[in-house]
Amino acid sequence: MSTDRESLGRHYDVIVIGGGPSGMMAAGVAAQRGKRVLLVEKNKQLGKKLSVTGGGRCNILNAETDTKKLIENYGDAAKYLYSPFSQHSMQDSWDFFEKRGVPIVVEARKRAFPESQKAEDVTQAMRSFVTKNGVTLKLGTRLKEFVVDEEEKKVLGIKTTDESFSADSFILATGGSARAAETGATSESVELLKQYGHTVHEPNPNIVPLKVEDQWVKDISGVTLSFMKITFWDHKYSKETKFSRTGKILFTHFGLSGPLILNAAHEVKKLLAKGQVHATIDMYPDTEVGTLRNRVLEVFNLHKNKELRNVLKEFVPAGMDSAVAAQCDEELLATRVHSVTKEDRNDLVDRLKAMPMTVFGTMGLDWAVISDGGVDLSEVDTKTMASKKLTNLHFTGDVLNINRPSGGFSLQLCWTTGHVAGSHC
Ligand SMILES: Cc1cc2nc3c(=O)[nH]c(=O)nc-3n(C[C@H](O)[C@H](O)[C@H](O)COP(=O)(O)OP(=O)(O)OC[C@H]3O[C@@H](n4cnc5c(N)ncnc54)[C@H](O)[C@@H]3O)c2cc1C
Repeated sequence: MSTDRESLGRHYDVIVIGGGPSGMMAAGVAAQRGKRVLLVEKNKQLGKKLSVTGGGRCNILNAETDTKKLIENYGDAAKYLYSPFSQHSMQDSWDFFEKRGVPIVVEARKRAFPESQKAEDVTQAMRSFVTKNGVTLKLGTRLKEFVVDEEEKKVLGIKTTDESFSADSFILATGGSARAAETGATSESVELLKQYGHTVHEPNPNIVPLKVEDQWVKDISGVTLSFMKITFWDHKYSKETKFSRTGKILFTHFGLSGPLILNAAHEVKKLLAKGQVHATIDMYPDTEVGTLRNRVLEVFNLHKNKELRNVLKEFVPAGMDSAVAAQCDEELLATRVHSVTKEDRNDLVDRLKAMPMTVFGTMGLDWAVISDGGVDLSEVDTKTMASKKLTNLHFTGDVLNINRPSGGFSLQLCWTTGHVAGSHC
């Protein structure tokens, strides 16, 4: 295909499409190298999603200093990530922000936040990194299509909702489709790559709450269990396809949330692919059944003449008594504990060790922190973040098909891939 540059409008050294964290990092780094950079963003402002990260506090990175250990969090993608992380490590990101007036503090599980606890401060630092280095901004402008020389396997230019532009290098930083309604995120630009031979995995919600069928779960919306074990089983209750996680969960009006659930969602989705998923909650993961039975018996002996409904609070974790009561029939709840049979008492203990529920889906892309999917990493030269199909196109951040848990790993990936793309374009 021959297209002369002039028909493609104004020429730049580098065009970055997408003004999220990874695009801003890439644009600023390229401009620092003396490149003339255009940053095209469809929202009216840069970093809309960045400003809502971490519940407004922004878990800016994960402070794991051992790069090998840090990379292990990216699952199957880890083997591709040594090169980018050796060029721009966690420490490099940390220094980058401290140097720009964003001191960082570390919380539990090495999750790092700006000391101010304000995501907006991180967004501001990135915005000024971009503008101070002289990047030209084109806001409120959406990429519509690439103009490609298919013989040369190069991108020549882009057509946007406003005008067309040409450049020597391009960086696609348009993100994934998580939290679409709130941030306007879509994966439409990544879809464009299919016609140039890229394998693009479908967007799939990840780090996402789970929908549960059972009414008792919804009835205790707002309750948290800070130390429990949840086991997920496939619909056939097969021993082979179950897994457990221990920690804190939050019950909501639709089902389950909280860090433990969000991070288990990727595995739960694999079970959901086969049908509904059974889950059981062990409210006393550190206590054997026998010990728990004795404890309940002691409580019964202390409150012999009370109705069972009034004694539940004495041995059921706070907030869970109404859920356990919902599993018992009225007659049993009205029975004075001295008359509760051993069988019923043991059934109650079984509930405490394995409270059952049915998970039937995730809350979808609008509730997801990230979406799996995007460009297959085997088609990216991760030394430069360049496409192996279109040699002057680079990829950063959520455009890439990389699964990871919550804890600052997503933004760390943005800083690293953005820096590498900006350094090599
Ligand atoms: C609610 C929430 C909380 C989160 N909290 C954290 C956290 O605390 N820590 C963490 O590590 N991660 C967090 N994440 C994940 C993190 O925000 C993302 O991984 C990160 O924003 C991805 O950055 P990105 O640059 O790849 O893409 P994005 O941030 O999605 O930016 C892409 C940009 O491209 C623009 N764009 C898209 N299509 C076009 C187009 N066709 N033309 C022009 N522009 C386009 C979009 O408008 C957007 O501004 C959170 C995510 C959400 C939704």
